[in-house]
Amino acid sequence: MDFQYSPEQLQLINEVARFAKKESAALAKDYEDKSIFPRGLHKKIGQKGWTGPIVPKAYGGMGKGALEYCIIMEELSKELITGPQTSVQLEKMLLSFGTERQKRLYLPKLASGEYVAALAISEPQVGSSFKNLQTTAKKDNGFYIINGKKSHINLAGDADILMVFTRTDIGLTCLLVDRDTPGIRFEKRDPLGMRTLPVYDIFLEGCRVPGDHLLGEEGKGLAAFLTTFNLSRIGNASTLIGFARGCLEHAVSYARDRRVGDSRVVDFQGIQWLLAEMVAELEAARLIRDRAALAEDAGIEHTLNTSISKLLAAEVAEKIVSRAFSLTGSYACYRESPFDRYWREIKTLQVAGGSSEIMKNTIAREILRSYKF
Ligand SMILES: Cc1cc2nc3c(=O)[nH]c(=O)nc-3n(C[C@H](O)[C@H](O)[C@H](O)COP(=O)(O)OP(=O)(O)OC[C@H]3O[C@@H](n4cnc5c(N)ncnc54)[C@H](O)[C@@H]3O)c2cc1C
Repeated sequence: MDFQYSPEQLQLINEVARFAKKESAALAKDYEDKSIFPRGLHKKIGQKGWTGPIVPKAYGGMGKGALEYCIIMEELSKELITGPQTSVQLEKMLLSFGTERQKRLYLPKLASGEYVAALAISEPQVGSSFKNLQTTAKKDNGFYIINGKKSHINLAGDADILMVFTRTDIGLTCLLVDRDTPGIRFEKRDPLGMRTLPVYDIFLEGCRVPGDHLLGEEGKGLAAFLTTFNLSRIGNASTLIGFARGCLEHAVSYARDRRVGDSRVVDFQGIQWLLAEMVAELEAARLIRDRAALAEDAGIEHTLNTSISKLLAAEVAEKIVSRAFSLTGSYACYRESPFDRYWREIKTLQVAGGSSEIMKNTIAREILRSYKF
């Protein structure tokens, strides 16, 4: 066992942290207020190579693994900067199931930050379970004709390319859809969190997609998606861990300076115990995330670990943002404090990317299937 990050990983942590602090301070508040995707910033992240962490160098990526991806997500989200989650999801799908042509077409653009991807699974009647997916794709002269509605899709109207999950005659099927394809329309939503990853509903009406835009095998879309879900869970866990760290940093900094009578807030033992619990739980969440990331890179079965990782990160982040209120009193109760945003981001990401209830279902299933007590 090795509990140390390598010198290169430590360097990456420092570099992303420095970048995120600087860019976060410079980012106009409008992006969050008006729910706008900061594409220029995404491109800057791409220029650093950080939008393609898992993409091999031959396709223009960093040629690194899941742990580097987690580091990037965590350090960016600590400063409330949107990480490349959806692009990395498409990269993973392409690397696992894409044709050589699809890889050459999309991976370099995703890895450089030129392209942005969206993942469209959820529908008005389909959230936690894919079984009832209603969007259809019918074959027609070498094309697929898609009809249906998708809901709550991050970046749908901003993305260059969308992974759209549909139902064909033989089962769930993933199709790559260009944003400007005729027959596709977007309606922007107004969510509490994830506002710099704008959320849209998508209307697909006779949307015609060439047959070679099939990603993976027809009818095997669900299996394909589930194999990439492990990476996305630890990406989301890392984002939540980053939010929790950001919250802690702000809360401790405030409580260090704030005097109550003759004491500083951080001098109260009750407050110190809160701090001790918060950091103990945060470190546990990071450890299980790191273990899951190493298992992902080693190709070891790790659904149990990735699900625990997303669950734990979501619970710890919620506890930390809630306790940030305890540490900072009235300061936290105003919108100009940073906790308003952290709270909205954390509550939203508890649901998106697989809710805590679904994580618990998966964990219980894995325990009963194969856990060594
Ligand atoms: C801001 C935001 C962004 C999103 N981005 C995307 C995106 O980019 N792409 C995409 O495809 N989807 C996206 N989603 C959708 C998200 O994945 C779903 O909202 C999520 O899976 C939950 O589905 P639901 O809201 O339909 O809840 P439902 O499935 O209706 O569930 C309602 C409640 O019941 C619980 N529940 C459901 N089933 C069970 C069960 N078997 N046991 C116990 N409890 C259960 C759930 O945890 C939830 O708390 C996004 C959602 C949000 C809010």
